[in-house]
Amino acid sequence: MKALGEKIEGLKVLFTSDQIQTRIKEVADKINTDFVDSEELVVVCTLMGAVLFTSDLIKHINVPVKLEFVKLSSYGDSTTSSGKVKPVDLTLPSLEGKDVLLVEDIVDTGLTANFLLDYVKMQHKAKRVKFVSMLDKACARKYPVQIDYAGFEVDDKFVVGYGLDHKGFLRNLPYIGYFPM
Ligand code: 5GP
Repeated sequence: MKALGEKIEGLKVLFTSDQIQTRIKEVADKINTDFVDSEELVVVCTLMGAVLFTSDLIKHINVPVKLEFVKLSSYGDSTTSSGKVKPVDLTLPSLEGKDVLLVEDIVDTGLTANFLLDYVKMQHKAKRVKFVSMLDKACARKYPVQIDYAGFEVDDKFVVGYGLDHKGFLRNLPYIGYFPM
């Protein structure tokens, strides 16, 4: 098994751990500015891909945070979207009157983001809902979505690492990369 942080054979690094951490601080600064008056920010992490991003991001958020999780699946073991969102667990407390920050790992076709935004906006009477994604694969968009804060834009490649998996593996890489064809 490769040690954490060691390069995986054939994997090309897109964003190093340092680049990711620097960008996260910049994104957090914007969120802190927008929510400066917030008494309670409910951060909703989308499992499993956004877990590393969420845990690093919230360390830099300086308004009172409550952390919640939802679990969705659209890729399964494939490297392309199934075209359907599988809601595995959408259990959330009441978000009525709350500030909400939805956190995704990557927006590809936009299907998952739209599903999540519709679910939170329709089911819960939140005060403000903002959406942050670590990566934006804008060139692959089929369903338009407003991303309020994005870490990096990526080309139409299947990326792994920093939460993003391939068949369940590679989520623990501290950097983001891809396997050139
Ligand atoms: P969408 O619904 O926008 O098509 O896809 C969103 C979900 O598909 C992401 O949350 C992520 O789980 C998965 N996904 C999309 N693109 C990639 C990718 O390049 N790599 C990996 N590992 N997962 C991806």
